[in-house]
Amino acid sequence: MIKFDFKIRQKPLAPTTTQVDKLKNWIVLFAEPAAAARRQSEPFPYQPLLTVRLSGSAPLRAGSEVYVTDLPNSIGSRVAYACIKPDIKSFELLTLARKLVAVHKKLHASSIAVQVSGFGATEQHRICEAIVAAAASASVDMPSFKSKPAKASTLNQLEIYGLVQKDSYRRTLAEAEGNALCRWLSVMPSNKLTPTDYLAHIKTLSRENGWKLDFLDVKALQRKKAGAFLAVAQGSPVADAGIVHLRYTPPAKKSAKQKALALVGKGICYDTGGTNLKPAKFMFGMHEDMQGSAVALGVLLTLTRLQVNFPVDCWLALAMNHIGPLAYKPNDVVTASDGTTIEIVHTDAEGRMVLADTLVMASNQKPSLLIDYATLTGACVYSVGTSYSGVFTNRPDSIATLIKAGVESGERVWPFPLDEDYDDGLKSEIADVKQCAMEGNADHILAARFLQRFVKQDTPWVHIDLSSSRNKGGLAHIPTDTIGFGIRYTLNLLMDNRIDT
Ligand SMILES: [Zn+2]
Repeated sequence: MIKFDFKIRQKPLAPTTTQVDKLKNWIVLFAEPAAAARRQSEPFPYQPLLTVRLSGSAPLRAGSEVYVTDLPNSIGSRVAYACIKPDIKSFELLTLARKLVAVHKKLHASSIAVQVSGFGATEQHRICEAIVAAAASASVDMPSFKSKPAKASTLNQLEIYGLVQKDSYRRTLAEAEGNALCRWLSVMPSNKLTPTDYLAHIKTLSRENGWKLDFLDVKALQRKKAGAFLAVAQGSPVADAGIVHLRYTPPAKKSAKQKALALVGKGICYDTGGTNLKPAKFMFGMHEDMQGSAVALGVLLTLTRLQVNFPVDCWLALAMNHIGPLAYKPNDVVTASDGTTIEIVHTDAEGRMVLADTLVMASNQKPSLLIDYATLTGACVYSVGTSYSGVFTNRPDSIATLIKAGVESGERVWPFPLDEDYDDGLKSEIADVKQCAMEGNADHILAARFLQRFVKQDTPWVHIDLSSSRNKGGLAHIPTDTIGFGIRYTLNLLMDNRIDT
């Protein structure tokens, strides 16, 4: 499994020329001169050379450009640098941080030195945090099955000058570790990450992290009459589908009655589309249709690393959506564990089927908040592209907070409506509800309307349709096409912008 080992060294003072001359790889961020005039952190020793060489006598202007220069010292230290405004948006800052780190990663650097020059202390912290997030994300290797393995990542350390953060970026590193786990699992080919393999990895993680693990296998789900989940699982030649329930208990238990946070994830290890088989173009890449479950697992790992003081339940719906003689079909009617009868319309809408029974179980435990993650609909991708994810909630007063958590974390979400009249599109002649509409209009909203029926006990609920699970060339601080979107977002939502439940 993935190894995550990334160190931060912090130096309270800005580097001297002698210190700069000893280190090969540097990242420097300059404040636009107008901002620097108000400000404070020490200049970089070679600052005039870097800013004048490229821009002549005119000052370097803030922008998204990354400059690279070798210093005229004996080792030719390479400096990747940029000039920014102090109020740069988080997404843009993280994107820039990814590009600055990439300059050194390409050269197989093991350590990168950092200085942020010309900013106030709060801005300095924010900028360094983004560089930590980007460097930690770039430090991990994704699965590779090449017979001649590529050179493993050597990057394992940042040396930050002129600033000391008391907790040494503990949360940022925990988020990066959760995200790395999520991406690693998502990249695994589906013949190497079947539900059986996935469960074995989860068992190892549970042992290492002290999580309580329950696995509701097909027989247990039959006893619970979880017909929505089982409709998808029945097409598999191996009965290894099931719902994983993990529980984190805080080290110092506050009160036995303390409500838990619930995380739910869609874990379809391969989605062929089922009987309504996908065309080749849309099937390729469907081993990543389990990314929602990996995001939930990544959030759980991050919260465990941070030893949060509330319990966390994590529910992962693991299955394959196969074709075959036993696979479910359009026009089948199945009954979910809460008694809802569902008319199947399109077997490729399997995500909402496995989530339905999982949401019933998760919400019946009366969590303080339930968040689910799923690579659920193409409609969400058509609506916002792959650099945003869609968000839905049954607490409409929280929508502004949900957006704000995206702006601040740099993992951006955009909300969609969840009004009742959308249910007209799911009316069935023969059952309580249709699984989806045949025509795909606003399928992301219909999917969310379908899911909300299975959220019980008036549980506050946030549903994230992961349209940005994959983005060519990376996204924000993440350098790989597989993004693992949602961990940094969720931490912001839980720690900084807590929604009203
Ligand atoms: Zn599907």
